[in-house]
This record gives sequence, C-alpha cells and structure tokens, in this order.
Amino acid sequence: MIKINKLIHKLREKINIYNYKYYILNKPAITDQQYDLLLLKLEKLERYIPLEKKQKSPTQNINDSLLKNYKQITHKTPMLSLQNTFNSKFLYKQFICLYKKYINYKNFFCCELKFDGVAINLLYINGYLIHGLTRGNGYIGEDITHNISLINDIPKKLKGNNIPQTLEVRGEIFMTKKNFYYINQNFLMQKKNFCNTRSAVVGLLRMHNMNDYSNLLNFFCYGIGFTNKNIACYHTKLLRQCKTYGLPISRNIISCTKLQEIIQFYDFFKINRHKLSYDIDGIVIKINDLSLQKKIGYNSRAPKWAIAYKFHSQEKNTILKQIFFQTGRTGIITPIAYFKSIKISGVEISYATLYNINEIYRLDLKIGDIITIQRCGNVIPKIIHVVKSKRTKQHTNEVVIPQFCPSCNAKIINNNNLLYCSASFSCKAQFQEYLKHFISRNAINIKYVGQKLISHLVEKNIISNVMDLFTLNEKQLSLLNLGKITTQKILLSLYAKHKVYLHNFLFALGIKNMGIVTSKNIADYFITLENFLKADKDNLLKINGLGLKTISHICNFLKKTENIKYINLLRQKIDIIYLNIMK
Ligand code: NAD
Repeated sequence: MIKINKLIHKLREKINIYNYKYYILNKPAITDQQYDLLLLKLEKLERYIPLEKKQKSPTQNINDSLLKNYKQITHKTPMLSLQNTFNSKFLYKQFICLYKKYINYKNFFCCELKFDGVAINLLYINGYLIHGLTRGNGYIGEDITHNISLINDIPKKLKGNNIPQTLEVRGEIFMTKKNFYYINQNFLMQKKNFCNTRSAVVGLLRMHNMNDYSNLLNFFCYGIGFTNKNIACYHTKLLRQCKTYGLPISRNIISCTKLQEIIQFYDFFKINRHKLSYDIDGIVIKINDLSLQKKIGYNSRAPKWAIAYKFHSQEKNTILKQIFFQTGRTGIITPIAYFKSIKISGVEISYATLYNINEIYRLDLKIGDIITIQRCGNVIPKIIHVVKSKRTKQHTNEVVIPQFCPSCNAKIINNNNLLYCSASFSCKAQFQEYLKHFISRNAINIKYVGQKLISHLVEKNIISNVMDLFTLNEKQLSLLNLGKITTQKILLSLYAKHKVYLHNFLFALGIKNMGIVTSKNIADYFITLENFLKADKDNLLKINGLGLKTISHICNFLKKTENIKYINLLRQKIDIIYLNIMK
C-alpha cells in the first residue's frame, strides 16, 4: 500500500506539472494522448485508495483557467469535462454497455465532432447576451465577456420567438487552420508561436484587446446548460432549435443506435478530418434523450451520459535536409523546412512551414538535425522540436538567412526578424500570389481562371500586371497549349464585365490583415466605394472588430496615389453591386 501511495503521489505531481504547462503556460510538453494515458494510469491506481483521499487528485478536478485575474462568476449549472477513450472496445465497455437496458428505441445516441478549442458558457436573458464565461473549475468560470462579444459568430441578441427567458448556451470557440497559419505568422514577430489551434484560441482570449484578431475566432454551440423552459426532448432537436436562435451549430451531427454506426462516423472523420477547415480531436457520443441525460447525471468531473472517442495523435522523427525561403503575396518571406519524407496517418509529407525566422531560432534548427514532426490536427505538419541528443557537429550546418529575395533578388528588409522583399509587384512571386488572391472565390471570382493558369501566365512573362489579365488574347494563351475550347471559355470569362459585391472588391485589393470578414464589416459601414476611399482612422475605429494594425494598413494603402489609380482602372472592368444603398 505504501508503494501505491508513493506511485500515486509521484504521478499526481507529474500530471500537475503537465497541467500547469498546458493550462497556464499554454505550452503542452507532451501529446494529449500521452497525458490521457498518465491520467488513466493514475485513475487505476486510485481504485486502491479511499474516496476522501482522491478529492484533490487531477482525476477528480477540472482545470481550464485562462488567467487568474478575471472576474469569477458561478455557472448556473456545472460545466464539466468529458470522459474519454481512444479505443472502440473501451468505448463499448465503459459507455455503450452501461446503457444497454435503455437502448430500446431508435436514435438513442447522438454523435458530434469534438472541436479542439476552448469551452465557453454564454448566458442569455430575454434573448440578450449577458456574459461569456470560461469553464474555469467547472463550477466557477472567468468572465471574458469583453472578448467574447467581439466574435462575430456569437449573437449578441438571439433571433426568433419562443426563446427561454434564461438560457445558458454551451459551446466551443475555435480557430480555422487557415487563421492558425495567419496568427502564427503574425505572432512570431513578438517571438510567440502557438503549437496548435487550441492554444492559439487561448492566446487570443487572454489578450486584453483582441480587436485585431477577433475575426479569427469562430464558435459552435454544442449544448445547453440551464434553461427555465424546456425547448426540446432530444439533444439533436435542441441543437436544431439553437440554430433557429442564430447560434451556429456544426453540420456534422448524426443520431444513431448501434456501435457500428458510431464507429463508422468516427472512422469517416478520422480519415477525412483534414478536409474540415478546423481541427477536431475526436468525436463526442451523447445520449440523445434529454430526460434520460438528467436521470443518469454526472460524476465530479464529467457527465455520465457523454463520452469523447478521441483520435490518436502522431509524431515521427526525420532528418532536416534544407530550409527554403518563399515570398508571399504581401512580400513576407517564409522559411519552409524540407525534410526526408515520412508518412503520418497515411500521408507522405516532406515540408513544414516555419512561419518566420524566429521559429528557426526558437527551435534552434540546424541543417542535418533529427527533428520531430507532428501533424497538427492531422493536417498541418509542424516541427515540434530538435532531438538534440542526436545532433553531431560533423553532420549539421547552420541555417543561412538570405539577404536577397529568392524570387526577384531584391534586397530583403529584416523587420524584427520578419523578412520582406523590398520589391513590390516587380517581384514575380509577390505578383503571382496576389493574382491568385485576386481571382479567388471571395474576391473577383473569375471563372475558368485557376491558380495553375496564373502560375503559368506569370512564369512565362505573359502578364506582368493585373490589367494584362483582362486583355489576354488567343495568341498569348496558345503558348500554354490549353486547347481551343478551354481558351475560348477563359477569354469569354475574362472579357465579361465582372459584377461583385463591395466586400469582395475590397477583399480583392489585398490590403494587409483585411480578410473577408473584415472586408464585409468595412463594406457594411461605408456602403459605397467612394465613402471607403475617404476613410480615415476616426471612422475606421468605429467599425466592429477592426484593430489598430489593420486600420494603419488601410490608411497607408489609401494614401498611395498608385493604389487609387489601380482602383480606378479596376472599376473599368468591374461593376460593384451595392447592397445597402437607400433608394
Ligand atoms: P477534453 O478536451 O478531452 O473534453 C472536454 C471538452 O471538449 C469540453 O470542455 C468541450 O469544450 C469540448 N468539446 C468539443 N466538442 C464538444 C462537443 N461536441 N460536445 C461537448 N463538448 C465538446 O477535456 P478537458 O477537460 O477540456 O481537457 C482535458 C484534456 O486536455 C485531456 O484529456 C488532454 O487530452 C488534454 N490535456 C493535455 C495536456 C498535455 O500536456 N498535452 C495537459 C492537460 C490536458
């Protein structure tokens, strides 16, 4: 028994350190799967000790604090964690089997995706958002209403009729993989780097003013805490009802009865999760009948009517062969690691972005190093660390940071370790990336003109500015051997007068930091292009979700006469559709 107590003590200490690194420092030291195995080991050992000695154990408590200096507010109903498993046998024994006697009707279970973000509790009274709290210790959460109310996905007022007077909405704030890339690129300037989308969400929510970044966060509702009026009998119906209130819910929800159906849902998303725009770390299985959920209840850490069936995380070691530098649309030069190819979750990978050169210094990378790669959310390959114990002087070389743009050879500007090409559209790489942005769906959306065609047109010097695109002719396209029909389709599409909404037009301008959501907010505010062209800091400050950085990029853009000339030229080819003009 003394031996068991000692083991328990050691294991708790270890887990508490990992908790501190994960929840407080926002820098996990081990993978979630390794952590969950440690917790399981502790749980097994604790079966030999009395209940009163378990109370302070990490197996019994919830830890989800953002920071300590927030106002603390008690949840109306506890907001707990989820029991979890990584294998189907366990899922059957630990969960399905327990409810066998109840499974006498169809659609007994509901399966949802397990979003990898931060849990949030939103309180609505008479349909108005009163506050947003973190999960905290499960009973008391931290008040982060200020930041929550900046997130577009979270309604400040619910829609429709029949809204309960008091409604506690539960859901997840998450970040798309695309925004994760963007944020890491930006934050590395401040020598910060997030290891996954979850920690990026935590990082943003901890900011005192996340205005510049609020449109990088999204929200899905996955349940209800307290409500003074029943709004549905089944969980699936409850979610659909929440949708009518204007709360976003995921499209990927099924109801089912058999274990095979659950496994099918799990397997499908295990293989296809890379196609989702956001990270998931498994699925969640819930009992569908809400009155049965109530009857089954909770233990101190999690509801007994739900379980997370998680995906395995995967890491592999390989050799770093080279670091390439790539020039992007706005002139930023990004280092890309090239390594001996490895297979993770069935996919062969040999490249990983390093965001900017701070990441090279942070990881202390040398060419020839043995590096550990993880596929973040099973999609973005990421170098986790260097295996320093395997580093030898003979086999490693320092990384050489370039002085000149790898595409156009112009001098590189180093701004706080963020590298920029000093040329503008005379740099082929920048021009090519801008054109790809310009023709994309959220911008001018030019049919039959794809990224590949743009690459060929620029590489073969067929076009050298945006307006050249609109005057392309058959002879020029014949250099690309596209065939007659395709050539005709492309030309017809290019010659037609393009009609786009103002927000798409603004997005197409490619102003730094101005994503499609920001463009929409700006278009809603200014209503016409003419008004936008007169924008200044004072009126830009009035726009929801617009931070100082973005404002300064917009003001700088509008100050340059060549940009105004460019807009005027574009107007000859593009008609802007105005949505909100009063007739
Ligand atoms: P969890 O993340 O495993 O599951 C609970 C959370 O899932 C809920 O709070 C909710 O926010 C979220 N969730 C996402 N989609 C959901 C849906 N459709 N329905 C309901 N809930 C949904 O548990 P946790 O308590 O938040 O965190 C514990 C976990 O964190 C551990 O199991 C481990 O994986 C990880 N962790 C890792 C480390 C580390 O060092 N790597 C350290 C501590 C914790």
